[in-house]
Amino acid sequence: MSCRFDLGHYAEILEAAKAGGYRFTFFGEPPARGDIFLRHDIDLSLDAALQMAELEAELDVQTTYLLMTESVFYNLASREGAAAIARLRELGHAVGLHAVHPNVGLDERFDPVVSWHNPQAEYMSASISGAINVYAEPYFDPPSYRSDSNQHWRAGCPHEELRGGGFAWLQILVHPEIWVYQGATMGLTMRSMLNAEKARRLEQLAADGIHLD
Ligand SMILES: [Zn+2]
Ligand SMILES: [Zn+2]
Repeated sequence: MSCRFDLGHYAEILEAAKAGGYRFTFFGEPPARGDIFLRHDIDLSLDAALQMAELEAELDVQTTYLLMTESVFYNLASREGAAAIARLRELGHAVGLHAVHPNVGLDERFDPVVSWHNPQAEYMSASISGAINVYAEPYFDPPSYRSDSNQHWRAGCPHEELRGGGFAWLQILVHPEIWVYQGATMGLTMRSMLNAEKARRLEQLAADGIHLD
């Protein structure tokens, strides 16, 4: 099995976790043996988030999507943003806040679950009043944590250990943009995302009555 960053291998990772006897769990209860807290910090693309969310639902996997209200790349308050939240809920996923420190603007759109965007060590694991901080105990423990940041699994792709039941429990951070858009490096993947974004923007302009000829 080659550890590509594409939706095919993503599905294989989910199947490996099931084969290893794991269950996908929401933040709320403390970690127990066999739990997987699979979370998605949505930095760049609601489209990518929705594609991943649909695939997970087809595989009967529910995860936690953490969305930004302060993204420079998407507008959660737009019709598209509201529709994305509605669809994520419909598919059975949890929706929390991917927050820019120190703002924790939780409102009725979100479950009280927060992940910090580009966290700094001095506040990363501090408790947040009224919300679960995914980087705080009991959910965050380095041996039980894997992240795909910048298209690189620092401790290796977890599929083999998942299949073999090698983790007592695990929190996994997966950025959908890296898996939905293709490129051999993070830079190339980001460029393919921007190319797709350009086509989408042209459609939005046309829908807004802008003449593109
Ligand atoms: Zn793998
Ligand atoms: Zn982020």
